[in-house]
Amino acid sequence: MKTARICLLILSVFPLCAAAERPTLIASAERLAERIEQLSAFGANPEGGVSRVAFSDADIEGREYVKGLMRKAGLAVRVDAAGNIIGRREGIDAGLPPITLGSHIDSVPGGGNYDGDVGVIGAIEVAQLLEENSVALRHPLEIVSFTDEEGLLLGSRAITGEVGPAALDIVSHSGKTVRDGIRAVGGDPDRLAEARRKPGELKAFVELHIEQGAILHEEDIDIGVVEGIVGIRWWEVTVRGVANHAGTTPMNRRHDAMLSAADFALAVNRVVTSMPGRQVATVGTIRAEPGAPNVIPGKVVMSLEIRDLAAEKIQRVYDAIVAAAQDIARARSTPISFTEIDVALAPAPTDKRMRRIIAESADSLGLTHNSMPSGAGHDSQEMTRITPTGMIFVPSVEGISHSPKEFTSPEDMANGVNVLLRTVLAIDGGALD
Ligand SMILES: [Zn+2]
Repeated sequence: MKTARICLLILSVFPLCAAAERPTLIASAERLAERIEQLSAFGANPEGGVSRVAFSDADIEGREYVKGLMRKAGLAVRVDAAGNIIGRREGIDAGLPPITLGSHIDSVPGGGNYDGDVGVIGAIEVAQLLEENSVALRHPLEIVSFTDEEGLLLGSRAITGEVGPAALDIVSHSGKTVRDGIRAVGGDPDRLAEARRKPGELKAFVELHIEQGAILHEEDIDIGVVEGIVGIRWWEVTVRGVANHAGTTPMNRRHDAMLSAADFALAVNRVVTSMPGRQVATVGTIRAEPGAPNVIPGKVVMSLEIRDLAAEKIQRVYDAIVAAAQDIARARSTPISFTEIDVALAPAPTDKRMRRIIAESADSLGLTHNSMPSGAGHDSQEMTRITPTGMIFVPSVEGISHSPKEFTSPEDMANGVNVLLRTVLAIDGGALD
C-alpha cells in the first residue's frame, strides 16, 4: 500500500476530505481481517470455512454480530419485513435519497469466510471511517445485509418487489420454510411488500464482493469493475437413437444416442470457444436410457446452460449450437431436440456512470483495475432494477469460492473498501447528477 500517496490523492480529489487533516480516512486492513475472522466463528465448519445457511442458528448469531458492528459505526439499525438488516446514517440534506451499500452474510453449505462477508464488513468499515473522522455526507448512507442471498436472493428480491407467495413455502437449507425463516430473523412474511423500495427511492447501490474467479489474482490486478451480472438460460437436450442389444448389433448398424451426445458436448465447447467474447456454455448433466451396460443407449438427455452479459449473444450462441446439433443428428440418424427450462435470468448490466466512478476511484488510489462480467449471481442484479448499481470485485486467491479454501488478503479487502469509500464520496459530491 502506498499510504502517503493515497492521502495526498484523496485531499486533491475530494474537497470534503480537505476540510480537515484526515490521514485515517483509509480502511484498516487489520480491522477488516479481525472482523472477518470474528464473523467466521458463527457457523464455523471443521474445514476452516462456514456453513451459515440463511435462517440457521449460525445465521441468526452472525446477524446479531453484524448489528453490533453497525451500531459501533454509529448506524441506526432496523430489520425490514424481509429480514434485511439495514443500518442508516443520516445526511445533511434530509430530502436526498440514500446511497446504499451492502451484500450478504449467509453462506452455501460448506462455504468460505469471504463470499458476501467482505461486502457487509467492508460497507460497515466505510460507515465507521466516516463516523470516526466526522465526515458528514449530503445523502443518507444505508448499509444492507441482505437476507438469504445464496438461496433465493430473497432480501434483494423483496426490495425490488419480485418475491411471489410461492417462494414462502420453499424449504430452505436451514430446514425451515422461507416463511418461518423470515420470522426467525425478525421479518414479517405477511407484510413483505413493506420491504419494497420504489425505483428512484435510492440514490445508488454499490456492492463490494470477492471475484470468485481467478482473473484478478492471476493477472495481479487490484480491482474488478463489474460490467454486469451475466444472464443465464437452460435447456434440456434430448438425443433419440435406437436401443438395441449391445452384443448382437454390429457397429455399423447402430443409432447410438450416446455417441451423438458425446459429439454434442464437444460441439458446444467448439462453438463457444470459436466466437469472440467471454460467453460460457456447459453440458452439466447426462443420462442414458435405458441405462444398462449391455444396451445401446436409445435416448440420452443432457443439460445445456449458456451465460453471457448480452441476451442477444446468448441467443446467437444457442443458434450456433442448434445448427451444430443438426449436423450431428443427420450424420448419425439420431434426432436432437431442445426444450428450454424456465429458469432464464436476464443479464443485469451495471450503470455505466457507476463503472466510471469506480474506475476513477481506483485510479485516484493508484490501484490497477479491469472491467469484467460477473459469472455468478449477486444481490446487485436485483438492485439494477430500481437504482443505478455498481459492483466492485477484489481478488479471490486461486479463484476459489463456495469452499472453505476461499481467501482474500486483508490488503485486497482494504483496497476494495477504499474504492467503495471513494465511490460513495464521489456520488455524494454529485458524480451521478
Ligand atoms: Zn455472494
